[in-house]
Amino acid sequence: MSKHTNVPVVIVGAGPTGVMLAIELARRGIEVRVLDKQSTRSPETRAIGIHARTLEVFHQLGLVEEFLTLGHRVDGMTVHTRARRRTRVSFGQLDSPYPFVLMISQHQTQRILDQRLERLGIAIERGVAVFDLDQSGDEVDLTTQSKDQSRQETFTAEWVVGCDGAHSIVRRRLGVPFAGDDYGQDWLMSEVNIDPSIERGRFHVFSFTDTPMVAFPLPAERWRLILPQVPNRAGEREAPDMDEIERLATTRGPAGLKLTDPTLLAAFRCYRRSTSIMRNGRVLVAGDAAHIHSPAGGQGMNTGLHDAFNLGWKLALVAAGQSSPWLLDTYQNERLPIAAGVLAFTHNLVRIFTISSPRQRWLRDHLLPIAMAVPAAEHRYSRRLSQISHAYRGGPLTPPTARVQPRSGLIAPGDRLPSVTGLQRNGEPVCTLDLTSSTEHTLLVLTGDRADPQTAEAAIARLARFNGTVNAVTVGGPSKGRSPNAVADPHLAAHRRYRARRGQLLLVRPDGYLARRAPLNRPDIPERYLISNAAVRRRLGGVAAIVGAPVDLAFTRCFLMHQVDLTETITRISEVVRPGGWIVAHEPMRSPAPRSHPELGALTTYWELMHKTMEAAGGPPRAVDDLPAAALAAGLEMVRLSGFFLPLEPARGFELHAATAVAAKDRAVNGEIATEAHRRR
Ligand SMILES: Cc1cc2nc3c(=O)[nH]c(=O)nc-3n(C[C@H](O)[C@H](O)[C@H](O)COP(=O)(O)OP(=O)(O)OC[C@H]3O[C@@H](n4cnc5c(N)ncnc54)[C@H](O)[C@@H]3O)c2cc1C
Repeated sequence: MSKHTNVPVVIVGAGPTGVMLAIELARRGIEVRVLDKQSTRSPETRAIGIHARTLEVFHQLGLVEEFLTLGHRVDGMTVHTRARRRTRVSFGQLDSPYPFVLMISQHQTQRILDQRLERLGIAIERGVAVFDLDQSGDEVDLTTQSKDQSRQETFTAEWVVGCDGAHSIVRRRLGVPFAGDDYGQDWLMSEVNIDPSIERGRFHVFSFTDTPMVAFPLPAERWRLILPQVPNRAGEREAPDMDEIERLATTRGPAGLKLTDPTLLAAFRCYRRSTSIMRNGRVLVAGDAAHIHSPAGGQGMNTGLHDAFNLGWKLALVAAGQSSPWLLDTYQNERLPIAAGVLAFTHNLVRIFTISSPRQRWLRDHLLPIAMAVPAAEHRYSRRLSQISHAYRGGPLTPPTARVQPRSGLIAPGDRLPSVTGLQRNGEPVCTLDLTSSTEHTLLVLTGDRADPQTAEAAIARLARFNGTVNAVTVGGPSKGRSPNAVADPHLAAHRRYRARRGQLLLVRPDGYLARRAPLNRPDIPERYLISNAAVRRRLGGVAAIVGAPVDLAFTRCFLMHQVDLTETITRISEVVRPGGWIVAHEPMRSPAPRSHPELGALTTYWELMHKTMEAAGGPPRAVDDLPAAALAAGLEMVRLSGFFLPLEPARGFELHAATAVAAKDRAVNGEIATEAHRRR
């Protein structure tokens, strides 16, 4: 047995989720090991539908063309019932460069992803099963075994992500429940030729009986048939033969279909399970390891890929020591509601198409075509299916104001930034997806229809210190901006779509969601987000800068009262210490609801002082750099209490104030702080 130490990130499982995460880390230069217990890539076709949102991600990774070349495009869905009118849904109105579902086997998808990872210099270690892991302090110990059991290895990782599927050992070792159930009946699946062929640009749901047959077109004129809820199989889910599939297709499908050339005949059981925890310390789970459901709507792989795309940039920032481990909590907080929504969506699809009551079926068959003929309903359904509706508005990385008016049409922080075409860079057509495809945050500086280059350039100059974390792109109006990275928006398409006619700063996260929007003359708004979430290390110039900084323990106690994890809190505080700095509050604060706690007095006093400071200063300071003067005018000693520079996000309570942190190894530097705070606990 050999022992190695200190791999920054280990990914357990090289399915689509694990490989996507590895790509995201490798693109950002993070060293990663990817282990899979199987000695070869799975040949199974499993996930066959790639949705619009996933194609947008593949666009960002430069892979979409390869997918489009190999896949088969589906533009809509038809539900056939006994009612005279069919339900027809079109995906054509989706606000995406890819308003369709791309059919391609999971094996091909994984091959393309694996090759992308290979080009980044990472080889998947196959035939290596993780069979134990133990988290202690700042490390995770892993034990692996080779497939032929000839070799065991133990090693230590700073971060471990379980992308190891539904039976995840990582999740089980964490002791995290995987709550839910199965659908009680087996399902059958086959891949065949259909003669005579049916319309190949659509999915077909044949819902003539109480259990449907669903037909999905595949590349090369093939079809996948799904037959839900058949009588339970004998033994280990005995596979069907072609006679059985044909018999069921005759009962459930249209008359006269001849099925030939089966390449897949399988039986499986559908589950609906999920975990309520995706991060526990230094161990995280993603993809099927965190949520599974029926294949209805083809959501599973797509959801796992987006878990990985959400986690990738955050884990890269944390592993590189540029951001706080707190950022990883936002992964869980953003993705758990999405997973819950996907489970509910797929469950509803199953319920709608497996109604046993004849009366309810009659109602469904007659109402569904009418409902889906309403453009808003059709649009809503296809946005949901395509995962384009998924957003993080109201999540931990958005400001409280972004939660209001969800239907106003304004793209708010937390929303996906829809791509706009009609832009030009160096005479070449580009879309906004092209502009936001870097590994960094992107600052889109829309200069407005009456281009205001001075204000735009001042904003870029102010945020220039985040170079390496933020890629600024000037999107000029009719007249192109002056910066070399400038893009022309000759017909103001982007300005109109983003409601930015008067100019706007749009800070876009690396995963394509809007982080902040602000008027051109308010670069402090994206600046605050960056300081809080993405670039503290850079700003502080390394840990050395914070050694010996004074720490106000009254302030520490405030965190304790809000039951934030103590150790984490201390590291967060210590990370943001800047000698001689200040606590900075950008907006008037709404105090968090008081909780009964013996030390509540200290908390209240602190907030009162801060409130008074702001009031006396005549409102919140407009910019970080303004604060010392404003605070001075208001009574400096109140703000000086803690002696830190700490960006605050007031209305969300203390947890978010601690928006920045430090790798645990740095705690030694601030040992004194930790000791004192522990004593007080
Ligand atoms: C019949 C069927 C049809 C489907 N259709 C669709 C669809 O159309 N669209 C869609 O989006 N989804 C679909 N899915 C779901 C999709 O296949 C899964 O959601 C997807 O594979 C999940 O990817 P993952 O990487 O999270 O997990 P997996 O693909 O399960 O990968 C997990 C990997 O971890 C490895 N592993 C496990 N344990 C260990 C260990 N201890 N050590 C090391 N490695 C380990 C495994 O070998 C495996 O390679 C379908 C699923 C089925 C069964």
